[in-house]
Amino acid sequence: MAKISINIKSGTLEKEDLVVGIDLGTTNSIVAFVNPDTGKPEVLGKAGELLVPSVVHITHDGFPMVGNIARQALITHPESTIFSVKRLLGRSYKDVEAHAPYYTYRILDEADEKLVRIEVNGKYFTPIELSAEILSELKRRAESITGKTVNRAVVTVPAYFNDSQRQATRDAGKMAGLEVLRIVNEPTAASLAYGLGLNSSEAKTIVVYDLGGGTFDVSVLRIEDGVFEVLSTQGDTYLGGDDFDREIVNHWLKCLPEKLHLEAFKSLRLLAEEAKRQVCGGLLFEEMYTHSDEQFKLGLDYGSFETITLHLMDKTMHSLQMALKDAKLTPDEIDEVVVVGGSTRMPFVKQRLASLFGHIKVNDTLNPDEVVALGAAVEADVLAGNRSDILLLDVTPLSLGIETLGGLMDVLIPRNTKIPCKYVKSYTTSVDGQVNMGINVYQGERELTAENRKLGELLLSGIPAMPAGLPKIEVAFLINADGILTVEAKELRSGVQQHIEIKPQYGLSDADVERMLLDSLSNAKEDVAKRMQVEARTEAEQMIYTVTRFLEKNAVLLSDVEIKTTLELCNALKSTLTQLDKDTILKGIDTLNEYTRPFAERLMNKAVSSALAGTHIDKI
Ligand code: AMP
Repeated sequence: MAKISINIKSGTLEKEDLVVGIDLGTTNSIVAFVNPDTGKPEVLGKAGELLVPSVVHITHDGFPMVGNIARQALITHPESTIFSVKRLLGRSYKDVEAHAPYYTYRILDEADEKLVRIEVNGKYFTPIELSAEILSELKRRAESITGKTVNRAVVTVPAYFNDSQRQATRDAGKMAGLEVLRIVNEPTAASLAYGLGLNSSEAKTIVVYDLGGGTFDVSVLRIEDGVFEVLSTQGDTYLGGDDFDREIVNHWLKCLPEKLHLEAFKSLRLLAEEAKRQVCGGLLFEEMYTHSDEQFKLGLDYGSFETITLHLMDKTMHSLQMALKDAKLTPDEIDEVVVVGGSTRMPFVKQRLASLFGHIKVNDTLNPDEVVALGAAVEADVLAGNRSDILLLDVTPLSLGIETLGGLMDVLIPRNTKIPCKYVKSYTTSVDGQVNMGINVYQGERELTAENRKLGELLLSGIPAMPAGLPKIEVAFLINADGILTVEAKELRSGVQQHIEIKPQYGLSDADVERMLLDSLSNAKEDVAKRMQVEARTEAEQMIYTVTRFLEKNAVLLSDVEIKTTLELCNALKSTLTQLDKDTILKGIDTLNEYTRPFAERLMNKAVSSALAGTHIDKI
């Protein structure tokens, strides 16, 4: 297929632009490209400005600011400064609930399975929109440094990211005006940066140990015929360099008078990080880090640092052992070890790895902060067709998916996925007693199915009548090596199933594919906004349905005033449904949600007391 790129501003096709690799990190993000003169990957940015903090500050008038400026607002405006948004991407409140106190901004605590939203000064943001702001900033920087347009990128994600988190990352790219050529696993990118996997005749098993500022991941990969397979992943999304700093702070606090603790805390954290970096490389081995001012005198040497953080290091090694066990491998079966993340600069990290993998040398010659972005750039270069020495496997030219509520396109197989492949996703019913489900299959990049190309449909009938949300319908998309798509739908509780076979490329010329891509990119921003509006409307409709049913069944639990207010709030929400502004609908949902939350509790209490009333106690 012809390679194309598109100038979004002019809407014209261009034959030359810069294709980049982006490491969209939890703490920092970084962009890299392959220098056409040297053929080598390089990070983009001036010294000291390579890392863009993944922080978005929303100003009082609702304007988002990204990077270093935003990071400064972390202390002055914690409630309107969003950090670690990657941890929220593609997640529901239920997923992140346990760590809610960690965030200084308001995450809407809708106790359901919907994707989380963040509220800042009456405006509602999804993690997708906020990540899009970070990606836009990276795109802008890359364009201003190189003077070229950047419309295409490879974006990396942790290997454990599920489908929803990957889709959210892809959507964020779209919103930022980027065609995401591929979502690549971070450990795969790190291996590529070291050239591992580029020679398709080599077969290797690799361990990637990634210890960053706030997260720890370890993955075992198998590369064969140029294909990377993740054999296992382990880690801790709340363990990183920050925890090592905290141990130093705790160590120092032991020697400080209690009355100093609270006010000293913030400055001690910064000093602890400085001390850590010093003892880990800035000083001669026997030297000691010291700091003294009018308030306190502090010291740290490498030996004590190693001792007080031993339990954290042990934790990472334990995860590594688990990852090896999951992959059914022993350390001597590993061919390469790659380290990623700033915290792998702590000398004991490499020492522990070296003693476990005695037979091989750890790959650590590249900058551990940059290695993921560098690898993403290599993959981007290959996908852009700039490397004739690397054979690319066949890929799907356009995304494939099904239509969901509100006429939205739900992608199961993204464009550029290597084939053969298989993707499975679970769905459920939206109405009580629903016994049929029509599954319409579409191809294309637009957010609304009406704008994509319909490939076929199948009807799954005979679903046993159950309350909405209970049936579990698994839809599987399979593409074989010839590009034939088979769609299967199965209701898991009853076992009823149906399938169809479709030739996805039939009737589409290269020109058709190009036109569809051009349409999707020139409409990307509006499309994503439309999707969010449709999602908000669908959510509001479902909420009104649930609340109305609750009132019908449980009116006795509520006072007259409560019933009246609930109905008024439902009506108010109904009247927002025709609005184009999603924030108005979301505000209505939020208000109704807050008001009705205690009712659910009353229902629970009622259920418990009637259950107790039903139990009888045997007389002795
Ligand atoms: P990353 O998230 O990969 O950018 O990693 C940032 C983490 O690496 C932070 O916790 C830093 O304190 C830590 N770090 C950076 N340089 C060093 C160093 N020389 N020694 C120890 N830790 C470091």
